[in-house]
Amino acid sequence: MVKRCSYFILLLLAKQTAFCQSIDKIINAAAVERIERTLSSDDMRGRKTFSPEIDKAADFIASTFKKAGLQPVNGNSYLQEFAMLRTSVISVNAQVNGRTVTTQNIAVLTGKEELSINQASGYKMMVVHAKDTLQNIITRLQRTGGDYLLMVDTTHRALFERVRSRRSVFSPKGNIVLVLASEEAGEYSIHYKQSVSAMPLKNVVGILPGKSKKQEYVIFSGHYDHLGVGKPNAAGDSIYNGANDDAAGTTAVIMLANYFAKLKNNERTIIFAAFTAEESGGFGSTYFSQQFNPDQVMAMFNIEMIGTESKWGTNSAFITGYEKTDMGKILEKNLEGTNFKFYPDPYPDQQLFYRSDNATLARLGVPAHTISTSKMDSEKYYHTQEDEIETLDMNNMAAIIKAIAISSTSIVAGKDTPTRVTPDSLKR
Ligand SMILES: [Zn+2]
Repeated sequence: MVKRCSYFILLLLAKQTAFCQSIDKIINAAAVERIERTLSSDDMRGRKTFSPEIDKAADFIASTFKKAGLQPVNGNSYLQEFAMLRTSVISVNAQVNGRTVTTQNIAVLTGKEELSINQASGYKMMVVHAKDTLQNIITRLQRTGGDYLLMVDTTHRALFERVRSRRSVFSPKGNIVLVLASEEAGEYSIHYKQSVSAMPLKNVVGILPGKSKKQEYVIFSGHYDHLGVGKPNAAGDSIYNGANDDAAGTTAVIMLANYFAKLKNNERTIIFAAFTAEESGGFGSTYFSQQFNPDQVMAMFNIEMIGTESKWGTNSAFITGYEKTDMGKILEKNLEGTNFKFYPDPYPDQQLFYRSDNATLARLGVPAHTISTSKMDSEKYYHTQEDEIETLDMNNMAAIIKAIAISSTSIVAGKDTPTRVTPDSLKR
């Protein structure tokens, strides 16, 4: 008995060591640094959307996906290309229920240069009550497409104003006209004119098809855009390198692609995504989310700013929106016996769950969380020219990326399925 037991332990140990060696071979500080250094280099000039350098970053990420052996998302390309339409209002003329609506109380989401509608135009009229969540309604309608007139209760004034002052729309499938007025629309006539110019954007996406559950997706993502070049600081540095935000998350996605592609034992399909335009409103993740049925996404690991130590020190990170699904618990279970720990987001007031690319998919019900270490109350270099690789800890980054890989094991294997995000849990 003793003999058998020790033999068994030996075998287990041998297996464990072999596993540790294999993951360390792929995810280690040196490998992390190679990717991180390229993405955050001055050559990339802060990876600003619509700059030539962000395209350079996209090509680099695509080349790493190719090297890993991922399947391209789009024919033989890893680039998921789309356009953002930059708009500028020329004129608004609106009457609703016999009264003139002021310019401040009308917002239009359309890719057309001119819109002229009335109650006979076939627009579906919807009243958005005080108790409704305006953002969820807009997201849903933009996704399904169609023409809508939304009569928006004035309690939603703040979000309405954000929608109204938006200077861009993208890949609109229909037209949405919003009127800030707590009433239904009977007779109306609305004329809207704007100028429109198309601005190209691209996500970088690679796929690792599942062995058995091909139609069930697990997503690893980060955003590769950042703020570009600004005014020089005291040291004369004008480049916002975004080493932590979010070259670090993008690096993690690439490392995870290398790791899972090497293992090649994923039962579920894994999608690796580097999003564009997070910093300018989450356009990349929104376009991405429109390319498939969100019900097929079993989990999304969005990774943002993991380059510095969390408030608990090394070997730890936090999960935003922890209480909204049981995904955090599953990840913790898979980390038992390691020296790594995940915590719930310690900065709930900052609404981080809603401030990154996970939110787009979470609104569609996907258990989608962001993993981060950023000390949001004291992260010195956040959105400054000093967010450079020298301020990051490559060893700790490697530890976090390994922890993400290990914690996702049972989900990737199709053994665990996190609970969905419910509309109720999204009320703020
Ligand atoms: Zn970010």
